[in-house]
Amino acid sequence: MVTVRFAPSPTGNLHIGGARTALFNYLFAKNQKGKLLLRIEDTDKERSKKVYEDNIFASLKWLGLEWDELYRQSERMETYKEYAKKLETSGHTYRCYCTKEELDQKRKLYEKLKKPYKYDGTCRKLSPEEAQDKEKKGSPFVVRFKMPSSGQTVINDLVRGKISFENSELDDIIISRTDGIPTYNFCVVVDDALMQVTHILRGEDHISNTPRQIQLYAALGFKLPEFAHIPLILASDKSRLSKRAGAAAVTEYQEEGYLPEALINFLSLLGCSYSASEEIFPLSEIINRFSLKNVNKSAAIFDFTKLDYLNGYYIRQKSETEIAGLVKPFLLKAGITPGEQTLLKVVKLEKERLKKLADIVDSKYFFTEVTEYDPAGMEKHFKDPLKIELFKKFREEIAGIDFKTAELETFTRSFAEKNGKKLGELVHPVRLALTGKLISPGLFEVMEVLGKDTCLKRFDKILQVI
Ligand code: GLU
Repeated sequence: MVTVRFAPSPTGNLHIGGARTALFNYLFAKNQKGKLLLRIEDTDKERSKKVYEDNIFASLKWLGLEWDELYRQSERMETYKEYAKKLETSGHTYRCYCTKEELDQKRKLYEKLKKPYKYDGTCRKLSPEEAQDKEKKGSPFVVRFKMPSSGQTVINDLVRGKISFENSELDDIIISRTDGIPTYNFCVVVDDALMQVTHILRGEDHISNTPRQIQLYAALGFKLPEFAHIPLILASDKSRLSKRAGAAAVTEYQEEGYLPEALINFLSLLGCSYSASEEIFPLSEIINRFSLKNVNKSAAIFDFTKLDYLNGYYIRQKSETEIAGLVKPFLLKAGITPGEQTLLKVVKLEKERLKKLADIVDSKYFFTEVTEYDPAGMEKHFKDPLKIELFKKFREEIAGIDFKTAELETFTRSFAEKNGKKLGELVHPVRLALTGKLISPGLFEVMEVLGKDTCLKRFDKILQVI
């Protein structure tokens, strides 16, 4: 059975890159009718935090990425010790007593020589007497793995093809630290093997770990799984993905009002394609079409415009009642308690324009008083006494009509004509008075939703503040 895993370290919230790795594993598992394990890699006691673990769980659940089994590395220490012992007994490891200061010095020397640093194997060469002496003194030590010093290690990557490494370039990696805590490269191999993971799908940033892990598989006599390294995600200018360019936590996207189905669709396209021409797919269709053959080698580009487009699309797939339910918490958070009927009317007007659910807050003038007016608009429309006079006249006459969209439009057009003005000369100041802004949905629809009383009050108010 195909078994994959997502193995986050709970040292931060689940960010967008991690979510993409989780999603690709999920898609592959579902497509292959296999299972997905979630393994929390929390051996780093200082940096691992329960809040981050909770955030990872909540984010995956919100995205709809359910896992079949859950593991925590911190609960598996005995197992790692057992396998470390095996490696020691079979002569694959040695104790390294080099101090931090000694290693720092060596590193600096390599830097001077402009050579990539690699541990020089000082302790690998200790005689049994020398080692015993260190032992007697109780010198602290780490355990290192004896990498083969010649030959090559080859990854047969399912995405990138054959990748070869010279073994002479791989250093004797540390498998357990001075405090006895096992390291990432070692735990990951023991876990993947014992959990019978068949395919390791992870970010390209892990490629350099893979040859080291392959050597550990061999030494432990474990069957090698398949490897597939998925491409990096870059910002639209091809720079590293920074926080501003999209590398935020999944929960931050949630808080801005992205829908999980939009984010899933968007993430599924980051480094993989499903059709030559289409990009909108529901999850079930992505599962059907997912194949490692269609995962790209080149970096994926994070395109906010596409994300917003997809989000708007998925918002409009919902009924107006559903959208109202979804935007309401964003209004409440902004301190606005919307009436149900008004909210539905506003959703009807705004849904074509919504990119994110939080955008609804831009329309708060439907629910609360207007307290601020666009300064450039005020300058343009409420400085000239003649324009103000015209506005006052409009306010008096419109008070006599029924506030229905069609009537409002007919009235405004004929008023403009009678007074020898263009429609825009009325629409802009009226919009400013009602919304405080220069842009809104269709003005006459806005007026109908606000109702006559509110509109007249707002006309009077703007005349007081000019
Ligand atoms: N804990 C590692 C990480 O967060 C997992 C790497 C792997 O998938 O092997 O990057």
